[in-house]
Amino acid sequence: GKLPEGWPNSRGLDYEELVDILKETPDSEKAREYSSYYTSGPHLAGKNLSQAIWTKDKWEEFGVTSLIVDYDVYLNYPKGHRLALLEKKGEKHMEGEDEWKIKYEASLEEDVLNEDATSGLKDRVPTFHGYSASGNVTAGYVYVNYGTYRDFEDLQAANVTLEGKIALVKYGGVFRGLKVKRAQELGMVGAIIYTDPGDDGEVTEANGFAAYPDGPARQPSSVQRGSTQFLSFAPGDPTTPGYPSKPGAPRQDTSHAIPSIPSIPISYQDALPLLKALNGHGPKASSISWEDGGLGYKGVEYSIGPSPDHLSINLVNEQEYVTTPLWNVIGIINGTIPDEVVVLGNHRDAWIAGGAADPNSGSSAFNEVIRSFGIALRAGWKPLRTIVFASWDGEEYGLVGSTEWVEEYLPWLSASTVAYLNVDVGTNGPHFRLSAAPLVEKVVVDTIELIQSPNQTVPGQTVSDVWDKRISTMGSGSDFTAFQDFAGIPSIDMGFGFDPRSAVYHYHSNYDSFSWMEKYGDPSFQYHETIAKIWALVAAKLVETPVLQLNATRYAEGLRRYVDSVKKKAYESNPNPDFEALDAAVARFHFAATIHDGTAAALLQQLYDNDIPWWKFWEKLQLYYAIRRINTKYKFLERKFLYAEGLDGRSWFKHVVFAPGKWTGYAGATFPGIVEAIDERDEVATLKWTTIATNVVEGASDWLEEE
Ligand code: GLU
Ligand code: CA
Ligand code: ZN
Ligand code: ZN
Repeated sequence: GKLPEGWPNSRGLDYEELVDILKETPDSEKAREYSSYYTSGPHLAGKNLSQAIWTKDKWEEFGVTSLIVDYDVYLNYPKGHRLALLEKKGEKHMEGEDEWKIKYEASLEEDVLNEDATSGLKDRVPTFHGYSASGNVTAGYVYVNYGTYRDFEDLQAANVTLEGKIALVKYGGVFRGLKVKRAQELGMVGAIIYTDPGDDGEVTEANGFAAYPDGPARQPSSVQRGSTQFLSFAPGDPTTPGYPSKPGAPRQDTSHAIPSIPSIPISYQDALPLLKALNGHGPKASSISWEDGGLGYKGVEYSIGPSPDHLSINLVNEQEYVTTPLWNVIGIINGTIPDEVVVLGNHRDAWIAGGAADPNSGSSAFNEVIRSFGIALRAGWKPLRTIVFASWDGEEYGLVGSTEWVEEYLPWLSASTVAYLNVDVGTNGPHFRLSAAPLVEKVVVDTIELIQSPNQTVPGQTVSDVWDKRISTMGSGSDFTAFQDFAGIPSIDMGFGFDPRSAVYHYHSNYDSFSWMEKYGDPSFQYHETIAKIWALVAAKLVETPVLQLNATRYAEGLRRYVDSVKKKAYESNPNPDFEALDAAVARFHFAATIHDGTAAALLQQLYDNDIPWWKFWEKLQLYYAIRRINTKYKFLERKFLYAEGLDGRSWFKHVVFAPGKWTGYAGATFPGIVEAIDERDEVATLKWTTIATNVVEGASDWLEEE
């Protein structure tokens, strides 16, 4: 291709100077200010225009050209709900009709705490599920553990009646929408999802810790709101899978994408009477090898049920569905190279007034990233590549803002984007967490060696020094999904998280608040500052290094591991699966990738050594062209792993190597096509997907090798 004008010079600021600015500027006190702003009132998707405008104005003030991009999306807002445990009284009230008394009426409310200002706002957001179905059902109920696919199989094996019953299910393990999906498929009529403190690690009331706000254990009334869309069908607006929700866009039926049975989220306080009423009815959880939850000390025996005939539940969920605008804020710093772009994103919307961790620890850090780049611009910096900043709306309902945007700008993103860097929760604890596409792992791993950890128990230690070195594959659950799985743009998702001994994080609850953050999450806001520095430096390295800092060898090594795990799985169900061609393709790709990375490193070295005297224009030009060529190969490499027709039964997902697990949602599956075919013991599909996988890997090698 044609060489961009001015490339690779005229950057106006040395890389070292840029790095200094990006490392010195982010400031914990500024992050605290932004956090206090974002978490001061409700900012549900489609109801946060003032925060979108505020964000845009801030970015403009920092010196970054910004705009608001809106979509008309299908969303629900809560209108009403009820959960009552009903008990039949012995005498007949009228002929043929039993008299039912209310045994327990659930509050469905989180407690107002004096110590936590936003928990008591008049306009606080009720507890509800995004994309839940309205309904009013009265039925018996069954405790279904985590409601995983496997849990439901166990219930079927134990002959527990599911049809016509309401599922009482605990949070954890898999994406909540998939719990409701499976319950619905098995003929259940409603779902109640509660938070069991048994999943809170060691910091529980049962272990003697006081509950928030007096201590670090879970507030017993806390409720996890959240989306129940069927994430693994497709994220985004369920009425427009694959194309943007612009005004006037045609709308599809949503029945594949969101539940038809009602569901509500509840606290463990509200779950207790329901769980206890099952004591002695049906098999015990432990008898079908499920672990008990953490409410044994409150008298719960974790019996499965079904509930006895004299008990039933009335579950009411009233949702108002609307098609309404939502607002992404997009900021742009134009680079010298127009067709090499790095996108950074974080969502702004939260389920509650707070959202101090999810997502506004990320949003606060993001503003510090953008302020830092603004200072560099004012100091004369002219970036080599273009940077796009995105503050997404509607993530919580199903990655809506980011998905619609990727669907709208797909042609441009495909042609130009080098990487997508996501931070959702910037911090709710001290441990660095990274999910990454293999191409972008190394740039992050290298960067965190340059950043001091707020934890200085050993003076001078870096984020890398105290990191557990684990890198997860890309699953779903945040805004990288459309980039990675739909557009084939290598992505990362990072932040600081908690461990089993940390103060309990009240996910999607009123207590994910500024008060909680100041008291437990990140009192000094040092982790906010640190994630901002990491994010800015990773971006800078990708934007400024003349040779793109992607690593193909890591991709090859990843593929080797993923194929090995597929093989292991295959051997269990079929002694002679044929992976010879795929093995050979991966070996060839490894060779091609190693050569490619080697050439890239040598070219960069040559450029840095600057050993071509200025009068040898021709040689210099050739070096530039060689770098440009190498970069283009890097840029499109992830795209080579897309399969246009998509995965079977969920064609929105185009990536052959990465997808959210069909029945996990959050956790990633590698080679999902092959794995699902093996799971379903479908030999035709296994062959089909092994062939597709082989073809894309061969295609990637061709791409790296061809002149
Ligand atoms: N991050 C949100 C959640 O985990 C949304 C994920 C999604 O709907 O894909 O609930
Ligand atoms: Ca769409
Ligand atoms: Zn989030
Ligand atoms: Zn969230």
